[in-house]
Amino acid sequence: MTPLLAVHGLCAAYRSLAVLSDVSIEVPHGGITTLLGANGAGKTTLLRAISNVLVRTTGEIIFDGKRIDGQPCDAIARAGIAHVPDGRGTFSQLTVEENLCLGAISRRDRRAWQRDMARMYEYFPRLHAYRRKPAGLMSGGEQQMLAIARALMLSPRLLMLDEPSFGLAPMVVRQIFDILRQINRERQLGVLLVEQNASLALELANNAYVMEAGRVTISGTASDLRGDERVRRAYLGHPEETTHA
Ligand code: ATP
Repeated sequence: MTPLLAVHGLCAAYRSLAVLSDVSIEVPHGGITTLLGANGAGKTTLLRAISNVLVRTTGEIIFDGKRIDGQPCDAIARAGIAHVPDGRGTFSQLTVEENLCLGAISRRDRRAWQRDMARMYEYFPRLHAYRRKPAGLMSGGEQQMLAIARALMLSPRLLMLDEPSFGLAPMVVRQIFDILRQINRERQLGVLLVEQNASLALELANNAYVMEAGRVTISGTASDLRGDERVRRAYLGHPEETTHA
């Protein structure tokens, strides 16, 4: 089966600074793929390259069988790719409900998106409590939930998340990851997750890639990577344990 997203031989640069070199990754339909790597490895840049924001790219990006590289970012969003950037990108002066409406701005199916909004309040009940209040009044974890809910209001087939756990308490992160797992199952939603917490990311994901200095250096199933000595040493922090039963 062709993957939901396939990136082949991608190079990306900020003006004269080349960051990604010959990157190839895939996200299966309804699968969760995670990108691991140290700071500066190029994970955020890869998500930006797929969304076509801020970087110049060469190479192929194929979404659901169609080339999307070079298309404007709004066309890529309309094609079904939602991007929750690092720093979340919610509007703190607008109410929670206004933020959610903005997520659905390109949709014509008003009834369906109103149903989706009700569904978001079921996934994230705290958002309902704050629906008429400025988003900036909520905690960091609640704002991350809003950023995810707003992206889902696009009714995407691929959700790209950049460090959703950043700065959040472990309990809140666990809650967000549980909801992501539920949404992935219920909606057959493909997820491309950039995450510093490798242990948590490999628990959630089916497949994983490790990036170093703008290249993919290790790839495989999440369970392969959990057992890979290089990954254990660099990202999981417990190289001495073996994977043997
Ligand atoms: P982090 O977790 O630190 O964000 P990352 O793996 O996501 O790491 P990127 O943010 O993609 O890495 O950064 C890759 C390289 O691109 C770094 O050298 C960074 O300094 C550079 N870079 C990132 N954003 C820009 C930008 N807007 N303009 C110029 N260079 C940038």
